[in-house]
Amino acid sequence: LRRWSLSGATALVTGGSKGIGYAIVEELAALGASVHTCSRNEEELESCLHKWRGLNFNITGSVCDVSSHEQRVKLIEKVSSLFHGKLNILINNAGTYLRKQIVDSTAEDYSFMMSTNLESAFHLSQLAHPLLKASGEGSIVFISSIAGLLGYPDIAIYSATKGALNQLTKNFASEWGKDGIRANCVAPGVTRTPLSMPYLEDKEVAKNMAILPLGRIGEPEEVASITAFLCLPAASYITGQIICVDGGRTLGA
Ligand code: NDP
Repeated sequence: LRRWSLSGATALVTGGSKGIGYAIVEELAALGASVHTCSRNEEELESCLHKWRGLNFNITGSVCDVSSHEQRVKLIEKVSSLFHGKLNILINNAGTYLRKQIVDSTAEDYSFMMSTNLESAFHLSQLAHPLLKASGEGSIVFISSIAGLLGYPDIAIYSATKGALNQLTKNFASEWGKDGIRANCVAPGVTRTPLSMPYLEDKEVAKNMAILPLGRIGEPEEVASITAFLCLPAASYITGQIICVDGGRTLGA
């Protein structure tokens, strides 16, 4: 059924060598899409690409630091030539985490987090606009976080980048609907990835997880499935939405 398939679709997923991005790349490819991904570490990226070739997935990759303006331009040039100027799906997933109190945060922390988590997603989407428009059916998904909706201590800058992605989702959706481009956002709660692993050993975090309605942390595949759904023709009337994948954390109970 065409509504539940990505056969013939093209996709760019940033940060696909680990964690949530890795699961999204596999999910999109399994649904039939041709996927390009990127990360900074070449060795890790190559080992992923090797594994995916073995599974007969149509996945390519290039080294790119999404915090660099120049490298973002090169990445979209590469994607444009690979996919003949047409891109159906852009997943702005690459991002990082900073746990620091406001009084300890430096100007460098601020600009590093903003360029990695926020400016990257804004500029890559801007650069991809002609490609998404040319595809006739474009879909952007921002991976934000429930931290961008709530007010946790010690993660102010991180949360600001994610809150801004939640907001941008609505602006992109309202501005680019006329171009056949939808924009949505997936806001995960704590998910088991290399990024969150060090914090999961924390007894306090473990205690908090136990009181979630679903009583456990999330898996990358559980974030990937809704992300892929938002890109399917089946989701063709959904735009500007922020969907939490958090085991019920934001219910406030
Ligand atoms: P991981 O650190 O496990 O994976 C991040 C991926 O992005 C890696 O492939 C990494 O490769 C790549 N990446 C990181 N920085 C850059 C960069 N500057 N340029 C290009 N690629 C980069 O993170 P997660 O999978 O946990 O997180 C993915 C997204 O989900 C992030 O935006 C994060 O904020 C968000 N999220 C995660 C949650 C969690 O609990 N894990 C909760 C809520 C949101 P490399 O290092 O080689 O560049």
